Parts: sequence; structure tokens; C-alpha cells
Amino acid sequence: MKGNSSDRASEGSGEKLAYCNALLEGALDVIVVTDVEGMFRYLSPSVQRNSGYATGELMGKCRFDFLHPEDVEGVRELYRQVMENPGEARVTEHRFKKKDGEWVCMEGTIRSLVEGGKISEIVINLRNITERKRAEQELRESEERFRQFSEATTEGILFHDGGVIIDANQNLADLRGFTIQEMIGRSVYDFIAPECRDLVRQKINSESQERHVLVGIKKDGTRYEYETAARPAHYKGKKVRVVAVRDITRQKQLDRARTDFVTFASHQLRTPLTAIGGYAELLLSEEDGPLTAEQKKYLEKICHNNDRLVELMGILLNVSAIEMGALIFSPTEVDLKKLIDSIEGDFKIRMKQRAIHFSVRLPEGDSKLFHDQKYLRIVIQNILSNAIKYTPDRGKVELLVALDEDDVIISIIDSGYGIPIGEHEKVFSSRLFRGTNVVERGIEGTGFGLYIVKSLVDKMGGSVWFESEVDVGTTFMIRLPLRFKPQP
Ligand code: ADP
Repeated sequence: MKGNSSDRASEGSGEKLAYCNALLEGALDVIVVTDVEGMFRYLSPSVQRNSGYATGELMGKCRFDFLHPEDVEGVRELYRQVMENPGEARVTEHRFKKKDGEWVCMEGTIRSLVEGGKISEIVINLRNITERKRAEQELRESEERFRQFSEATTEGILFHDGGVIIDANQNLADLRGFTIQEMIGRSVYDFIAPECRDLVRQKINSESQERHVLVGIKKDGTRYEYETAARPAHYKGKKVRVVAVRDITRQKQLDRARTDFVTFASHQLRTPLTAIGGYAELLLSEEDGPLTAEQKKYLEKICHNNDRLVELMGILLNVSAIEMGALIFSPTEVDLKKLIDSIEGDFKIRMKQRAIHFSVRLPEGDSKLFHDQKYLRIVIQNILSNAIKYTPDRGKVELLVALDEDDVIISIIDSGYGIPIGEHEKVFSSRLFRGTNVVERGIEGTGFGLYIVKSLVDKMGGSVWFESEVDVGTTFMIRLPLRFKPQP
């Protein structure tokens, strides 16, 4: 019965071809039939979309004339193979020249057709993979660029997928003493000191891009310090993390040597300075006989400059310890009242000379903190010293302590020169900040005090801020947890 597909396919060959073409019209794949020499016998309609040629233009031409010269021999070999093995398919990939001269890359299968016991035709099923090839090529090039960058840098680089190393550069291999192949497939944690593994786990989980200093372990078991930062990246088709590793052992050694030297020099200088100050004060007390006004003036200058040198030594020690990350906090129970009394004692003479009115207000009962007493003292001392220094004679300075749940808030309020409003932003952000108003007044200072205060308070788990109005006064406030909380 007509209308049935097999009936229709069995009609005349022209009709048969039209029927096949209609079926293949919308197909993306290309079907080509050639004779055993490669002369085109049939081309499906999609040939036009893929090559730019109308099927009629190619009929009777030889397929090999359109193949890339480098691919001709390979395709001929496949023709030979399929003719020797009738019915068996072979996989092919080759380039075909389009009408506009460009090359398309085709992939597919080749097989021979046997008719009447003889091989009559070769059937080729093809798919255009030009876009895929281009994408693969771009990926290869970008990976190559990545590799060249990673080999050109002096840093170690590794790629990991969820903690499993998938690639690394030679610098990292040299640093760790492993070959690249030995590292691939292993966990990143295998190369990190146990105490740093939790931090790395957190970094990976939170996709952190922050820089950190970690301790690594080499193949021979030696430990080394390194600075590291990671970024997300696409590598070999995967979303991975790329990690840069910079060995800082040498830099740390130099830093340590510098801190040791600064510490040593400061301590060595302190002893004679303390002796000079002591003897000058003894002479000033006139216990060993009266002094002329001139002598007194000179001795006062000696004492003043000696105090400055002692203070500078302290600054030098603290700043170098902060910069080196060498602050070691040893918290103990601190009686805040006693500590404040003792700090007040240090400033008593200065405040008396300048007729500064000083008062302290503490909360009822005990004010016990658990902190490093030495650093807590430096913080309060610095803020109080500024309040006195930047308040005119006969001014007022007040120290207020308040408790707020698990925190203590220490406020130091003065009636001094204040900080110009336009300079407030710089107070904690620039290390050597000095207010223009106090510089104009010729008041000595280094600009290091608040940097030390902020660094210490941060490390103690607290915060420091201020309010200030020129020629009205300044209040510095420090909030600290009652118990020291180590900070990263
Ligand atoms: P220094 O006092 O040695 O200059 P600091 O870092 O302690 O260094 O202070 C930085 C600057 O902040 C000071 O030079 C001053 O301009 C300003 N400052 C700090 N405390 C006060 C204050 N209580 N009153 C007015 N200005 C202040």
C-alpha cells in the first residue's frame, strides 16, 4: 500500500534520493558516499551548511582534493582498511576545505558498502567539530600560558581540587624536595605542619583569598615558614584553587636578626641611660649641695633629654616587636585599680609641674582583668601620656573605667588642644601621624604611640576609638574583653 515508508523507499531511485534528502534535511550530521577512489556519489543536504558548497557543485569531484594535505594519507589508509574489512567501521578526523577557503574539522566513521559481493561504495558519517577543536586549542594555549607564567615566577604554585593536588610547578617541587609527580594526587595537608592544617581547612571552606604565613614540611622533615595566598581558577576544565607559596625562611631569619639587634641595643643603652638619669636627678635634688640657677637649668635639660631617650628606646622595642609579629602575650590576673595607681605615679611629677588636675573614676568593687599586664600598661600609659602632653597647663584629665557585660571600657578624657576634624581619619591609619595643631605648638612627639596602642589593643581582642574637638578636648576609649582573647 502506498504511503507506507518502505513502499515509498522502494520506488524509483530519484524518488528514493529525494525521500532520503527530506529525512536528512534538518540533520546536523553529514553523510557522504564516495566510490572506492573517493569520487563523490552522494552528499546529504547538510554538506552545504558545513562546507558552503551546494551538493551539485561537489558531485563527480574527488573528495581527497578537498582534504587538508596533512590528512590525505591518513584518510587514504582508512579507505584501504575498510575495503579490506568490509562492514567494519573506522574512526576518522580530518580537515575539509570550505568554499570560502577556511578549514572545517570533521569527525566520524568510515565504512565500506558491499553490493553483489563486491565493495561498491564508501559511506562516511561526519560531524563538524571545528568549534570544539577551537575551544580545545584555546584551552591548551591558556593552560600553556598558565604554565609559562608559573614557571617564570620565583614562587611555588600549585593547583588543588578540594585539597587534592592536581598540578604544581618546579619551584614548589624544588622548595619541598618532592618531584611534581610525587605531589600530584596527594593531599595539600600532607605538606603543611599539623598546627596549621585547621587554618588551611577554614581557608579552603570559606574560599578565602587572604594572605597567611604558614609552616610547611619538606620531604626530609624540615620545617619552613612560607607566605601563601590562594585564588579560585579554572584549570583543565575544573574549578580549582591556585595557591602561591613564597618561602620566607631567609626573610624571617633576617627579621629575627634585626629584632634581636634592636632588642639587644635598646637594652644595652637603657642601663647607662638610667644611670645618667639617676645621677642627674640626684644632683637636681641638691642633696649634695646647692646649685646655681644655671646649673639647675642644664641638669633639667639633661633629665628631660634622658627621659626622651628612654621613651624612644621603649618605642623602638615595641614597634620592632609589633612589626616582626613577635608580641608574646602572657595573660595574668591584673588588678586594674593598682595598675592605674602605678601608672599615675609615673606621671605625678609631670602633672604637678603643669598643674594638671587628674581624677580617676572606677566602678564599685573589684576591677580584675585577665590580660598581659606589661602590654596593658603600655596602652594606658600611651593614651594618658598624650592626654597630659596635649592639654595646656592647669587643664583637666580624667580616667574613667566602666564595665559592660564581658568587656571593660577605659576612657581617658582631657580638656586639651584636640585633633583637627579634617585629620581624624589619619589618626589610626597613618603610622607617623602628628596633628598639625600640636606640631605648630612645638610639642615633641614621634607619632608612634597610637600605632603601638592600636596594634596591641587589636591583638588583645579589643578596640580603640576617640572623639575630639579642637581646643575643647579629646576622649580616647578602649574596649577590652575582661579576659584576653588571642587573635589570629
Ligand atoms: P605622639 O604623641 O608621639 O606624636 P601618638 O601616636 O601618640 O604620637 O599621637 C599621634 C598624634 O595624635 C599626636 O601627635 C597628636 O597630634 C594626636 N593626639 C593623640 N592624642 C591626643 C590628645 N589626647 N589630644 C590631642 N591630640 C592628640
